[in-house]
Amino acid sequence: MSARILDGNRIAAEIRAEVAAEIRALAGLGLRPGLAVVLVGNNPASEIYVRGKVKNSEELGIYSEKHTPPAGISTEELLEVVQDLNRRDEIDGILVQLPLPAHIETKNVLMAVDPAKDVDGFHPMNVGFLSTQRPGLVPCTPAGIVEILKRSNVPVAGREAVVVGRSDIVGKPTAMLLLNANATVTVCHSKTRDLAEVCRRADILVAAIGRAGMITRAFVKPGATVIDVGMNQITDRTEFDKFFKGNSKREQTFTTKGSTLIGDVHPEVAEVAGAITPVPGGVGPLTIAMLMANTVRAMRLRRGLRVPELSKA
Ligand code: NDP
Repeated sequence: MSARILDGNRIAAEIRAEVAAEIRALAGLGLRPGLAVVLVGNNPASEIYVRGKVKNSEELGIYSEKHTPPAGISTEELLEVVQDLNRRDEIDGILVQLPLPAHIETKNVLMAVDPAKDVDGFHPMNVGFLSTQRPGLVPCTPAGIVEILKRSNVPVAGREAVVVGRSDIVGKPTAMLLLNANATVTVCHSKTRDLAEVCRRADILVAAIGRAGMITRAFVKPGATVIDVGMNQITDRTEFDKFFKGNSKREQTFTTKGSTLIGDVHPEVAEVAGAITPVPGGVGPLTIAMLMANTVRAMRLRRGLRVPELSKA
């Protein structure tokens, strides 16, 4: 039996259409959400992500602007950029693209973003709102994971959820959202003993590790829902063959591009899981869609308007 594929592109398109409709309704009230993205230096991967974020904003009718200070900017100068954006009323969302250059104090910069404009949901105040179930801004990837589960009719309440990974960006907020949705949650990390055994308890298994194909069939209870957050680039032929030998579609990508994307979940898991998110085309598309939703949500929260259901657990 083969797992049901949870199509992130379809769900993200559904969310984008809802957000676009909301933006049109707000335009009728003379309101337009605004997003500012700050991209420091020339990290090629970050440039691609930021381009996608700005393009999506424009398509949906969100006013957007990109700030591109040079890699040599000091923490103090970057704090000034953020403070300026905090002061501007037409800017509802501020996103500082990570990673920042090593000499910059990232935590101080993220702390400086006005929590009401913190569309990445990384400010400690929003982290606190999430853990105490108050209205705030929730990190985009975890919020997207919840949307995938909800819109695919995967029950969460009362289920065993295991999250592998405890980063502030993915693992921890995902665990908190699942807990808020009444799952029984276990969070695993690199020091977890008998990881496969713990994972096999999961009705819902979330892999946010950053290790190509680490979650094999031995980690998965038959019928479980598996959410693969990992995005790992494979460029090595031997590694490619280990995961994708005989997969003609992948073979074509690998031959043309010299690389292919794999999640943290081994392709063989599709044979035992009940449902699974693909990579690419699973969690990834949700991250940008939820950023758009968060920008509108930030505008509503700042202006005391009704807050939409979207992105609530
Ligand atoms: P981090 O590196 O910050 O965190 C990785 C986590 O995995 C850590 O908690 C670490 O444990 C744990 N881990 C590492 N190795 C093992 C192991 N062998 N066994 C058990 N746990 C382990 O990564 P992120 O959370 O930022 O990202 C995780 C993955 O998700 C990456 O592939 C990233 O590219 C992807 N990602 C995808 C997004 C999307 O939109 N699809 C968005 C964001 C990230 P410990 O804490 O003990 O070190």
